[in-house]
Amino acid sequence: MTSESASTHPSATDEVVELCRDLLRIDSSNTGDPETTVGERAAAEYVAGKLAEVGVESQLRESAPGRTSLVARIPGTDPGRGALLVHGHLDVVPADASEWSVHPFSGEIADGYLWGRGAIDMKDFDAMVLAVVRDWQRTGIRPPRDIVLAFTADEEAGGEYGAHFLVDRHPELLEGATEAIGEVGGFSYTVSPDLRLYLIETAEKGLDWLRLHARGRPGHGSMVHDDNAVTALAEAVARVGRHRFPIVVTPTVRVFLEQVSEALGIDLDPDDPELAIAKLGPIANLIGATVRNTANPTRLAAGYKDNVIPSRASATIDCRSLPGQSELLMEQLREVIGPDIEVEHVVRQPAIETSFDGDLVDAMAAALRAEDPGARPVPYMLSGGTDAKAFAKLGIRCFGFAPLRLPADLNFSALFHGIDERVPVDGLQFGVRVLDRFLRQS
Ligand SMILES: [Zn+2]
Repeated sequence: MTSESASTHPSATDEVVELCRDLLRIDSSNTGDPETTVGERAAAEYVAGKLAEVGVESQLRESAPGRTSLVARIPGTDPGRGALLVHGHLDVVPADASEWSVHPFSGEIADGYLWGRGAIDMKDFDAMVLAVVRDWQRTGIRPPRDIVLAFTADEEAGGEYGAHFLVDRHPELLEGATEAIGEVGGFSYTVSPDLRLYLIETAEKGLDWLRLHARGRPGHGSMVHDDNAVTALAEAVARVGRHRFPIVVTPTVRVFLEQVSEALGIDLDPDDPELAIAKLGPIANLIGATVRNTANPTRLAAGYKDNVIPSRASATIDCRSLPGQSELLMEQLREVIGPDIEVEHVVRQPAIETSFDGDLVDAMAAALRAEDPGARPVPYMLSGGTDAKAFAKLGIRCFGFAPLRLPADLNFSALFHGIDERVPVDGLQFGVRVLDRFLRQS
């Protein structure tokens, strides 16, 4: 508690805008290269300072110089219950200022939006969490169960220097956590003026990065040559890139599609869900990749001179598998790639999936409905990955729930890592109210 009286400090809904703005003004661009990644320590120190102001002590841990993550604990009234982990990353993907309408690190407010890199991914949620916790500390509110706050580095490059580091090296800081909320979920998708779906993430596809290596006979580029590593690799890469894996509807996606078809009044053929998905407009992209495994070639490397046939060539394939499908995908891919290419498994992060039920899900639904009578929560699967994959290694049941009410015409998924990333100010304040209700009931 601070000595301020309850009437003199700002409300959480007022303060969230300022907190988010401050965070947006800290350039914490994660380039994927530890040498050029900046700002994570400054962001973590900012959060630690805001928590310290209201009497919450932070643990800062660095996986490498400047790669700072923060963990803090808010004691609950019933310490016998498992803790709830509330996590958000502090890094952002880089932004090219010349492409933006405003400077990406200026935290400008215009047209009802707060603009900046990280405005929805995910300094908005970081600020909401801070705003709620600061308000509770000032007014003496204690949550029912322990809340563990984790603000992480390096999510945008896979979390090795952030969430995975915390889980692998400092699991004691997360002790007792049984469930978690973080990105990417809790946002609204408007069906009609009185019906909004709120997509809550209950599953994430797995990630496998493969490196393909082709070898051949080196030689002069002017000769007839039938054992060319570049040609062999290119053929394999083209086969992989054009291959479409079969549709598989997992439990999460089945519930999502049923609810969406009902809400939109469209017929759903479970064997051909792509028709229904195509009708989802801006979120079709988000959902389309969750009904099949995918394998996309992303990098090529070969050669050192224009007239020399190299002895080797390599390519990277970014594979994303549905829960329980990773082994099958690798087998199928092996056939598509063919026999003469060596396959190296570079990164493996298994898919995660939990069921859409229980007290925590009920608390999410109740909090959303209290603030938006037209809210209907639905589970969905994220085709990408988040820090949840790291926390799930500790047996924590992870949800994407960073509540945000969005205008009907906003193309939300395009804003992730996109130009002119921005968050509606009233949506941010809505998120604070929902989060506050949810955390009090959780
Ligand atoms: Zn993110």
